[in-house]
Amino acid sequence: MIYLDANATEPLRPQARAAALAAMETGGNPASVHQAGRAARKILEEARERVASFCAARPADVIFCAGATEANALALHALGRDRPILIGATEHDAIRAAAPHAEIIPVQPDGQMDLAALKSLLAAHPGALVCLMAANNETGVLHDIAAAAALCAEAGALLHVDAVQAIGRCNQGWLALGAASLALSGHKFGGPPGAGALVVRENLEIRALIKGGGQELGRRGGTPALPAIAGLAAALGAPYDAAQIAGWRDEIEQAALAAGAVAIGAGAPRLPNTICLALPGVRAETQLIGLDMAGICVSAGSACSSGKVTASHVLLAMGQGDLAGQAIRVSLPWNADVEMVRAFQAAYEPMARRALRKTAQSA
Ligand code: PLP
Repeated sequence: MIYLDANATEPLRPQARAAALAAMETGGNPASVHQAGRAARKILEEARERVASFCAARPADVIFCAGATEANALALHALGRDRPILIGATEHDAIRAAAPHAEIIPVQPDGQMDLAALKSLLAAHPGALVCLMAANNETGVLHDIAAAAALCAEAGALLHVDAVQAIGRCNQGWLALGAASLALSGHKFGGPPGAGALVVRENLEIRALIKGGGQELGRRGGTPALPAIAGLAAALGAPYDAAQIAGWRDEIEQAALAAGAVAIGAGAPRLPNTICLALPGVRAETQLIGLDMAGICVSAGSACSSGKVTASHVLLAMGQGDLAGQAIRVSLPWNADVEMVRAFQAAYEPMARRALRKTAQSA
């Protein structure tokens, strides 16, 4: 099996596995005062310190939760209260579903945020909460967070950054750039699934979305998933050869273009590992099945829980409506190697040729 679906979940890092197993063996509930509880607490607080130091925040500003879906929802709940909400047109459903009435900030055809539109929306909605992803999960396109943060600061708005796909691949000091908060999810950078965090700027009040036993300084109720949190912290900052991965991404892209594909978002600054490839006239499902039969795991846009392929809102927002149901996402994992790249190229070319021939015959 050739796994090229890292944006769905990265393979577990060995150091994350070791830390998660050690936490599991330690046992104990960090809220308990006895010896076992203290041992669990030590693991939790060390993980918190590591996340804080990686994000240039204070440990008290790290709120562990179940993943980025929850971290984003918590940011919207806590910071979006009584504020107009503006979200990017290509945001993940974790943001879109949690802010159904938000104003939408359009993107340019290459997928980057339209800064002029953001500026006018900020003027029309004073004191807003703006939610932007650092990197898009379907195309890998990066938003200019520094520029957005400057506009938000000028307008007295708060900026929440969904850093899920960028962390570990393309780090930026988002809080230092002026963001009020950022969301991360452990399994997207080689930790186990089940843990994420909302990291907030000093002194921002966060009211719990999930209330309970007062955990996380009263900002997130529920016993923390210690093994997943320990694994998350261990995976953070693990080595990542962005230049090598970008080189392989480009080789894959060149081969796909030669086979008749269109690369979407390729003109914009992008994550090193992500390619969005459309085959005009060929349904994404057909491409996925063809590649799966050759042992290659990729996805169509973002994988939703039903596994159903629908037209991508990301591509629609980029004005690529014609290709919106015809694109696949190839996302190289941290442990990619040249064999994976060659295997993809060997499988893609005949799949594309067959599918394009069939499309032409039925036209
Ligand atoms: N934000 C982005 C950009 C994502 O890609 C994802 C998951 O794909 C999420 C948020 C949600 O993360 P999780 O499923 O870990 O809660």
